[in-house]
Amino acid sequence: MLLEDYQKKRDFSQTPEPQGKIIPRENKKPIFVVHEHQASRLHWDLRLENNGVLKSWAIPKGIPQKINEKKLAVQVEDHPLEYKDFEGEIPKGQYGAGKVKIWDSGTFETVKWDNSVIEIVMHGGKMRGRYTLVKTREYTKNSWLLIKQRTKGD
Ligand code: MN
Repeated sequence: MLLEDYQKKRDFSQTPEPQGKIIPRENKKPIFVVHEHQASRLHWDLRLENNGVLKSWAIPKGIPQKINEKKLAVQVEDHPLEYKDFEGEIPKGQYGAGKVKIWDSGTFETVKWDNSVIEIVMHGGKMRGRYTLVKTREYTKNSWLLIKQRTKGD
Protein backbone atom coordinates (compact mmCIF):
# COMPACT_ATOMS: atom_id res chain seq x y z
CA MET A 1 0.00 0.00 0.00
CA LEU A 2 2.54 2.61 1.18
CA LEU A 3 1.77 6.00 -0.38
CA GLU A 4 -0.53 4.98 -3.22
CA ASP A 5 -3.70 5.40 -1.13
CA TYR A 6 -2.48 8.73 0.25
CA GLN A 7 -1.77 10.10 -3.22
CA LYS A 8 -4.98 8.77 -4.79
CA LYS A 9 -7.13 10.58 -2.22
CA ARG A 10 -5.60 14.01 -2.84
CA ASP A 11 -5.41 16.58 -5.62
CA PHE A 12 -1.99 18.16 -5.14
CA SER A 13 -2.93 21.13 -7.32
CA GLN A 14 -5.52 21.99 -4.65
CA THR A 15 -4.14 20.92 -1.27
CA PRO A 16 -1.03 22.36 0.41
CA GLU A 17 -0.17 18.89 1.74
CA PRO A 18 3.11 17.30 0.55
CA GLN A 19 2.84 14.77 -2.28
CA GLY A 20 5.68 12.91 -0.65
CA LYS A 21 7.80 9.93 -1.34
CA ILE A 22 9.09 7.00 0.66
CA ILE A 23 12.16 8.08 2.62
CA PRO A 24 13.85 5.19 4.44
CA ARG A 25 16.18 6.50 7.14
CA GLU A 26 18.71 4.21 8.73
CA ASN A 27 20.47 4.71 12.04
CA LYS A 28 18.13 7.52 13.01
CA LYS A 29 15.69 7.49 15.87
CA PRO A 30 12.20 7.15 14.41
CA ILE A 31 10.01 10.20 14.78
CA PHE A 32 6.35 10.67 15.57
CA VAL A 33 3.92 13.52 15.20
CA VAL A 34 0.40 14.06 16.47
CA HIS A 35 -1.72 16.41 14.38
CA GLU A 36 -4.80 18.14 15.71
CA HIS A 37 -7.15 18.06 12.74
CA GLN A 38 -10.23 20.23 12.71
CA ALA A 39 -11.98 18.36 9.91
CA SER A 40 -15.76 17.84 9.72
CA ARG A 41 -15.13 16.36 13.17
CA LEU A 42 -12.22 17.36 15.37
CA HIS A 43 -9.79 14.46 15.82
CA TRP A 44 -6.14 13.79 16.42
CA ASP A 45 -3.85 11.89 14.04
CA LEU A 46 -1.00 9.86 15.51
CA ARG A 47 1.75 9.19 12.98
CA LEU A 48 4.69 6.86 13.61
CA GLU A 49 7.69 6.60 11.29
CA ASN A 50 8.05 3.07 9.96
CA ASN A 51 9.83 1.84 6.81
CA GLY A 52 10.10 5.26 5.23
CA VAL A 53 6.51 6.39 5.78
CA LEU A 54 4.30 7.57 8.63
CA LYS A 55 1.88 4.87 9.78
CA SER A 56 -1.22 6.85 10.79
CA TRP A 57 -4.21 6.50 13.10
CA ALA A 58 -7.12 8.90 13.53
CA ILE A 59 -8.08 9.21 17.19
CA PRO A 60 -11.52 10.78 17.59
CA LYS A 61 -11.32 11.39 21.34
CA GLY A 62 -7.68 12.35 21.71
CA ILE A 63 -4.54 10.87 23.18
CA PRO A 64 -5.02 8.95 26.46
CA GLN A 65 -3.67 10.92 29.40
CA LYS A 66 -4.04 8.51 32.35
CA ILE A 67 -2.44 5.11 32.94
CA ASN A 68 -4.58 2.33 31.39
CA GLU A 69 -6.81 4.82 29.59
CA LYS A 70 -7.85 3.48 26.17
CA LYS A 71 -8.89 5.44 23.10
CA LEU A 72 -10.18 4.19 19.78
CA ALA A 73 -7.58 4.66 17.03
CA VAL A 74 -8.66 4.03 13.45
CA GLN A 75 -5.79 3.20 11.14
CA VAL A 76 -5.80 5.37 8.02
CA GLU A 77 -3.60 5.50 4.95
CA ASP A 78 0.17 5.79 5.33
CA HIS A 79 1.38 9.37 5.05
CA PRO A 80 4.73 10.53 3.64
CA LEU A 81 7.51 11.32 6.10
CA GLU A 82 7.41 14.99 4.99
CA TYR A 83 3.97 15.19 6.59
CA LYS A 84 5.69 15.43 9.97
CA ASP A 85 6.18 19.17 9.35
CA PHE A 86 2.81 19.86 7.79
CA GLU A 87 0.53 22.46 9.26
CA GLY A 88 -2.05 24.39 7.31
CA GLU A 89 -5.53 24.42 5.98
CA ILE A 90 -6.78 21.76 3.59
CA PRO A 91 -9.25 23.57 1.32
CA LYS A 92 -12.97 22.96 1.31
CA GLY A 93 -13.95 20.11 -0.99
CA GLN A 94 -10.59 18.38 -0.60
CA TYR A 95 -10.03 15.17 1.35
CA GLY A 96 -9.73 15.98 5.08
CA ALA A 97 -10.72 19.62 4.56
CA GLY A 98 -9.99 21.78 7.59
CA LYS A 99 -7.17 23.10 9.75
CA VAL A 100 -4.23 20.88 10.68
CA LYS A 101 -1.72 21.78 13.35
CA ILE A 102 0.99 19.91 15.19
CA TRP A 103 -0.15 18.95 18.70
CA ASP A 104 3.01 17.07 19.66
CA SER A 105 6.14 15.60 18.09
CA GLY A 106 9.32 13.81 19.09
CA THR A 107 11.08 10.48 18.77
CA PHE A 108 10.06 7.03 19.95
CA GLU A 109 11.53 3.60 20.61
CA THR A 110 9.87 0.44 19.42
CA VAL A 111 9.58 -2.37 21.97
CA LYS A 112 7.38 -4.55 19.76
CA TRP A 113 5.82 -4.04 16.34
CA ASP A 114 3.74 -6.75 14.71
CA ASN A 115 0.45 -6.93 12.80
CA SER A 116 -1.74 -6.56 15.86
CA VAL A 117 0.39 -5.10 18.68
CA ILE A 118 2.68 -2.09 18.70
CA GLU A 119 4.51 -1.20 21.91
CA ILE A 120 6.35 2.10 21.94
CA VAL A 121 8.13 4.45 24.30
CA MET A 122 7.43 8.04 23.40
CA HIS A 123 9.81 10.96 23.85
CA GLY A 124 7.60 13.90 22.99
CA GLY A 125 6.50 17.05 24.72
CA LYS A 126 3.07 15.69 25.68
CA MET A 127 3.27 12.00 24.80
CA ARG A 128 5.90 10.56 27.11
CA GLY A 129 6.55 7.01 28.25
CA ARG A 130 4.97 3.73 27.21
CA TYR A 131 1.94 3.31 25.01
CA THR A 132 0.53 0.33 23.18
CA LEU A 133 -1.60 0.08 20.08
CA VAL A 134 -3.65 -3.11 20.00
CA LYS A 135 -5.76 -4.19 17.05
CA THR A 136 -9.34 -4.95 18.03
CA ARG A 137 -11.47 -7.75 16.63
CA GLU A 138 -14.60 -5.64 16.75
CA TYR A 139 -15.88 -2.89 14.47
CA THR A 140 -13.77 -2.84 11.34
CA LYS A 141 -10.42 -4.28 10.44
CA ASN A 142 -8.88 -0.83 10.89
CA SER A 143 -9.81 -0.44 14.55
CA TRP A 144 -7.12 -0.31 17.20
CA LEU A 145 -6.99 0.86 20.80
CA LEU A 146 -4.30 3.27 21.95
CA ILE A 147 -3.51 2.63 25.61
CA LYS A 148 -1.29 4.59 27.93
CA GLN A 149 0.84 2.19 29.96
CA ARG A 150 2.59 2.56 33.26
CA THR A 151 6.18 3.68 32.76
CA LYS A 152 8.95 3.06 35.26
CA GLY A 153 8.78 5.83 37.79
CA ASP A 154 5.07 6.60 37.28
MN1 MN B 1 -7.02 13.55 10.06
